[in-house]
Amino acid sequence: RSDEGNVQSWPGHQSKVDQEELRQILRDVPSSEQAMQWSYFYTSGPHLAGKNYTQALLTQQKWKEWGLHSYINEYLVYLNYPVDHRLALLKEKEGDGEDKEYEVTYEASLVEDILEEDPTSGLANSVPTFHGYSASGNVTAPVVYVNYGTYQDFEDLLAANITLKGKIAIARYGGIFRGLKVKRAQELGMVGVILYSDPGDDGDVTDEKGVPVYPEGPARQPSSVQRGSTQFLSVAPGDPTTPGYPSKPEAPRKPVETAIPSIPSLPISYTDALPILKALNGHGPKAKDFNQWWTRNTGLGYKGVEYNIGPTPDDVVVNLYNEQEYVYTPIWNVIGVINGTIPDEVVVVGNHRDAWVAGGAGDPNSGSAVLNEAIRGFGAALARGWKPRRTVVFASWDGEEYGLVGSTEWVEEFLPWLKHSSVAYVNTDVGVRGKRLSVAASPILNKVIYSATSLVGSVNQTRPGQTVYDLWDKKIKTMGSGSDFTAFQDFAGIPSVDIGFDSDRGSPVYHYHSNYDSFHWMQKYGDPGFLYHKTMAQVLGILVAEIVNLPVIPFGAEDYAKALAEYVQKVEDKLDAYLNPPAEILSASITDEEMFELRSSTRNQSTPSSSLSSKHTPETFRASLERLREALQTLMYHAYQLDLEADELRHIEQNEEIPWWNLPKKIRHHCKVRKVNTKYKYMERSFLYEEGLDKRPWFKHVVFAPGLWTGYSGAVFPGLMESIDQEDWTNAERWVDIIESRIEKASKGLEQ
Ligand code: GLU
Ligand code: CA
Ligand code: ZN
Ligand code: ZN
Repeated sequence: RSDEGNVQSWPGHQSKVDQEELRQILRDVPSSEQAMQWSYFYTSGPHLAGKNYTQALLTQQKWKEWGLHSYINEYLVYLNYPVDHRLALLKEKEGDGEDKEYEVTYEASLVEDILEEDPTSGLANSVPTFHGYSASGNVTAPVVYVNYGTYQDFEDLLAANITLKGKIAIARYGGIFRGLKVKRAQELGMVGVILYSDPGDDGDVTDEKGVPVYPEGPARQPSSVQRGSTQFLSVAPGDPTTPGYPSKPEAPRKPVETAIPSIPSLPISYTDALPILKALNGHGPKAKDFNQWWTRNTGLGYKGVEYNIGPTPDDVVVNLYNEQEYVYTPIWNVIGVINGTIPDEVVVVGNHRDAWVAGGAGDPNSGSAVLNEAIRGFGAALARGWKPRRTVVFASWDGEEYGLVGSTEWVEEFLPWLKHSSVAYVNTDVGVRGKRLSVAASPILNKVIYSATSLVGSVNQTRPGQTVYDLWDKKIKTMGSGSDFTAFQDFAGIPSVDIGFDSDRGSPVYHYHSNYDSFHWMQKYGDPGFLYHKTMAQVLGILVAEIVNLPVIPFGAEDYAKALAEYVQKVEDKLDAYLNPPAEILSASITDEEMFELRSSTRNQSTPSSSLSSKHTPETFRASLERLREALQTLMYHAYQLDLEADELRHIEQNEEIPWWNLPKKIRHHCKVRKVNTKYKYMERSFLYEEGLDKRPWFKHVVFAPGLWTGYSGAVFPGLMESIDQEDWTNAERWVDIIESRIEKASKGLEQ
């Protein structure tokens, strides 16, 4: 009604479909059957970055058919394709010859089994299993078990004087971004890294506990391999040769040394890991005697593995051979636009299309199916005469898997326009791999996420009529990294949300980055009937529709201010924990996520001393936090005022009649809405600091960044948190100044 009725928040805006009808269309159009068709289409052959042009083309064609202006956006990027690999366990032969001679005691297969029941399971086998951005190399050395390979795991090894230099690390997947495991191993002089999937991390859904393995059952297929990028993420995501600017063909290229590994690595299955882990039995301390953290998920003697740390003796070595071809190759983002009436308010919505494997039914193509179904909904609305207030830009990104390449290059290219016009970025990567709604977002979006999820019926209901919101734990995580929202949130300061149905402990094992992330797995275990696909398409559509089309942007400035106050408290808690380290943390009572957070800090374990005498101390730092709290009080006040005014304007939109002849009143109302919307639009941008974070200047957001040594999970106020880790109180107070100035800038923006 606000569209055709008497209130007009933008002169000349005409739409034949109002918000309520639009929501209904976005609920009605997405179908499970169609989502299944998209899933089938996108998962029917390998589609690595730069090797998925036909899928890009079809995506573009479909988006055109549905009424979008659509084109293919190309970059020329640096990345690797695998040529060859080998992993073998060797034993030195007895004898007194000059050259060492070895016999092969185990030759790793490095391939995933072809399963009759799963028709695409063999399709990607022509592409050797590999790591994105890994280094070529051929090394032979004893092996050390490094647990998850977190920063703290390596600290534990150093403290116990385990020799790391010159050895090959075997690390289990989990907890932190894999590239950071390789990074730390490399820094410590190790010569190669093997990453394997340990079923101990699958909870109770393991063959050890009697659960049949895929395809017969939901437990991990023992030959499954998690591919994935080993980019370091510390400099920047995106093409490592063009940090901060777009990879156009003519763009100058930077050297990549600090951005990607220089030691080789390979991903392997637990079948291939077992002989290596067993070769460690009896060598070095056992994990369970070593450290309480190291027994977590080890399954205690699983299949004869005792989780000794090693290293293996000099006559028991591993040969790791990895050959990669590095190329400059085109990659293709598909962009689709629906122009809105308001020229400078834009919402971007994206999902990546590239996958490591033939399938990728969960990652990313559940999201691709969901995105298509949502766009089909918008297409239906367009056909009925809907005109959006704001512009929507849809994106099907390429090159995400290598390091968020397609989305990062695009943001870098269109940065001035995006900074000027962007209201929000909405991301779905793995749209569905289970039944539990999982959301990470900038706090300014909390409100609209809660309202949009309340407008969609839930698949599983304990009482009829329950919505997605009702069956959700309502936790909204902070933004870390690991998907295409990163450049939007951390580089351009655009409030972002990442949403999908995640798996739970106890649900069927999701074969992440494996051939078994397939259509067959999705149909049989992940989302039988594709009901969650349909629901996610409805949620995504309505979430976008609310941000794009409500006259007053549905943001909450106060939510942001409150969140900032909580983050300041987190900083103080960390400082407390630093000053009085807890003697023993009860491992049973904390979640895996908390454990990795606890163990991701990079501070050395020695007691603070030297810096205590200087001008800046933990205590002066603590005192300076009060300045942040004061600044936040002012922000809170203006945020509250803004939200209040927004509510009043919404009330007028919904309830008041402004007669057609009362033009002055209409114009006054329009100006007020415009002003409020502009304040919401730029609030997040205030938190950018052009110089960027310490030693990673590409990351410009002072509130959110991927954890330096976690990658996936986010750090809040990274400048402050990292200064505590480094016991650098001068830098800590420098960051207080910077953050204070950003908060003041946000306050001014809201006040004007
Ligand atoms: N989503 C991909 C992964 O987790 C890429 C992440 C990244 O490079 O940031 O492997
Ligand atoms: Ca770039
Ligand atoms: Zn993905
Ligand atoms: Zn992925």
